[in-house]
Amino acid sequence: MNILVINAGSSSLKYQLMHPETGDVCAKGICERIGIDGRLVHKLPHDDKKIVRELAMPTHAEAIAAVLDILVDPQCAVISSVDEIDAVGHRVVHGGVEFVESCIINEECKAALRDCIPLAPLHIPANLMGIEACEKAMPGKPQVAVFDTAFHMTMPPKAYRYAIPEEFYEKDHLRRYGFHGTSHQYVSQRAAELMGRPLSELKIINCHLGNGSSLSAVDGGKCIDTSMGLSPLAGVPMGTRSGDIDPAIVQYIMHTRHLTIDECMDIFNKKSGVYALSNGVSSDFRDLEDGAAKGDPGCILALEKFCYQVCKYVGAYAAALGGLDALTFTAGVGENGPNTRSAVCETLGFLGIKLDPEKNTVHGEETLISTPDSKVQVWVIPTNEELMIARDTAKLCGE
Ligand code: ADP
Repeated sequence: MNILVINAGSSSLKYQLMHPETGDVCAKGICERIGIDGRLVHKLPHDDKKIVRELAMPTHAEAIAAVLDILVDPQCAVISSVDEIDAVGHRVVHGGVEFVESCIINEECKAALRDCIPLAPLHIPANLMGIEACEKAMPGKPQVAVFDTAFHMTMPPKAYRYAIPEEFYEKDHLRRYGFHGTSHQYVSQRAAELMGRPLSELKIINCHLGNGSSLSAVDGGKCIDTSMGLSPLAGVPMGTRSGDIDPAIVQYIMHTRHLTIDECMDIFNKKSGVYALSNGVSSDFRDLEDGAAKGDPGCILALEKFCYQVCKYVGAYAAALGGLDALTFTAGVGENGPNTRSAVCETLGFLGIKLDPEKNTVHGEETLISTPDSKVQVWVIPTNEELMIARDTAKLCGE
């Protein structure tokens, strides 16, 4: 089967054409600057060459047309006709309480998705534009929506409810949703496969640590808690996002600094996190590690605070799970940050976690990095959200 995986943002659209059975990627790329001018950057597998096409993309419709055009281009030899695409899988950022699993896209699904717009006003309209552009370009082609929030919908009320008046939950749907769900689900499944044990028997904590970071507690394959909340601003400090803060800070800085609520949110989303703790040195962990190695106190604090918060979440989730079989690291920092992994695991030694320092040097490869006598297995597992989307799409389209 050939599944086209689409991740549509407001001004960009990423795509991958892949085989869900093997995970083989036939081609991938990105359309950038949609609505501005337009550029398509296309990559073929087993080839470092990039094909760049500058063309007008006033809307997502032109972007999808450009993607289909290059996929059938004889020069690229990917597919010879759009008919060879069996189905399209869309990454959708927020599914509200409506979507507890992936679903075939039809008018009812799109209407329910529109009802979720207040929960993610920047992202859902872009996802819908991607969906509608595909409908227009490939009428009748099965399409599936895969939600970042769906995997977390198994959380019990004690995990997802906020301790605020009930009307905000009942009428406004304010609750913890969680994000990166496709990644947490993929990594949990892969951990069980690699451990050679049924997922239904395992207690796993996943650390998805990238520019955006979240942790999840997974009991028997079901998410019971996660660090992000109503929005992806909650949880551990991130590249430029604050993570958890006291909500009274908002009122305080609005009054003392005469800021509007939008200005406050801009600070918490774009000027906080490890970027702020490092006094503006960088939001990138490689730069922070370089700075820390040179003794920069801000970089040292940023890394310490990040690892401290990750450890606190792991400790809390080990308690929530009532035990722990595996700890996984994924995403940019999780897959490529031996120093972060060792700092976290050293503090968690009291849980019986022991890292093998040699194995922990790994970058971006599936590896067991704990020692044989570690009470908890620690794994590096590169995430593959596109494969998870392609598999769900293939499953729902009946193959
Ligand atoms: P996003 O949330 O945008 O998908 P990624 O998962 O790509 O982010 O993670 C980006 C982060 O991964 C950056 O902060 C970068 O510093 C970090 N990273 C990538 N490679 C390395 C590395 N070799 N060592 C430490 N951190 C790395």
